[in-house]
Amino acid sequence: MSGWRVVLVSIGLALLSHTTTVNSAGPAVIAKADRQLWHERVNSPNAFDKASRAALLVYALALQDMQKPSDADLLAAFKIKSINRASVVKWFNKELALSLLNYQQAAKDCGSSDWTCPGNISSTADLLAKAQIWRATIPPQMLAWRDNLADFSLAYIAEQMRLAALFPKVSSEIDLFNDKEWNGDEFADRQFFLSFDDGPSAVHGTSDDVLAMLEENHKNAVFFVLGENFQARLHKTDANTLSGIYKHQCVASHGWEHQSHAKWAQWQDSIKRTQALITSVIAKENFLPLFRPPYGQRKADSGAFFQAQSLRVALWNLDSQDWNAHIDVDDIINRMMVLMLIKRHGVLLFHDVHAKAKAALPVLFNELGNAVTWGDCHLLATHDAKGN
Ligand SMILES: [Zn+2]
Repeated sequence: MSGWRVVLVSIGLALLSHTTTVNSAGPAVIAKADRQLWHERVNSPNAFDKASRAALLVYALALQDMQKPSDADLLAAFKIKSINRASVVKWFNKELALSLLNYQQAAKDCGSSDWTCPGNISSTADLLAKAQIWRATIPPQMLAWRDNLADFSLAYIAEQMRLAALFPKVSSEIDLFNDKEWNGDEFADRQFFLSFDDGPSAVHGTSDDVLAMLEENHKNAVFFVLGENFQARLHKTDANTLSGIYKHQCVASHGWEHQSHAKWAQWQDSIKRTQALITSVIAKENFLPLFRPPYGQRKADSGAFFQAQSLRVALWNLDSQDWNAHIDVDDIINRMMVLMLIKRHGVLLFHDVHAKAKAALPVLFNELGNAVTWGDCHLLATHDAKGN
């Protein structure tokens, strides 16, 4: 069987055996990688670019391969009722265009004898053609890396295709409804932001651990808090204490309850209540006028409401899957490292109600050294999908 068939069959089998645990927001098979198979460090811009070029060439071929399955193949694998093919095609085109741009960014300092530099690449067709030829020239000691990354890419692309196939019937981070919404696709090269959803935890819980870890590593993040969790924590402490734990961080809204804001009759009330509560507690300079919909699900026509509330929908493009019981800390480090090499910029999604990010992120910070910029969350206050 060829690459795409193997991945789709494994997704179909996973859905058969885990039908009760598969959440509508989560994939059945999580893309896992092994970053140790890349034998060099990635802790400087040049080293990062080299690993990024190689990863993008493998990823581009996986994108080409995953365009082969028919609607019937996808329906059978994803166990969904219909496929929005136009949305899937749109995602592929966007992803290929982004891969071309990313490759060009990564190839700026290409040396003539570097095996990750197959020459100038000027179009997506050129990217696919050169990647195909390049594939046969990969040094033998890197073949295990190539095969692992190809498998990871196919599984990751399948995750994204499922979201694209469901959009907009089931909305998600996969696409935007208007140019006030953003998902991190438009950030500057090698610039990343951190975000944490679903908190805060109880006092002295996982949120406090994440905040201490960020402080220790001189990083900050946007915390998209749930109104009901924020209120519960407020009842245990006081407004000053609660505001204080986020003093170098940013706080924004994840709605009052963790449910789809596309189907919930009270979605507007959820957003207004959460907004009022957060702004009454959080120091003005740390509040961001952003709303992150639970599961990324919001109404297609909600743009006018958000504009009236002076809020922007803030999504993500680098999903750690840290909430998923089938993925451990090392899986998260591997997955995020590879996704950062492929995407080269954007917003990482974690959850401060789980313990995994606290262990995974310091490893990423350390291994990436000065290869990337971790952006100050306060810069996101006025950001939109056009990169303004
Ligand atoms: Zn959430």
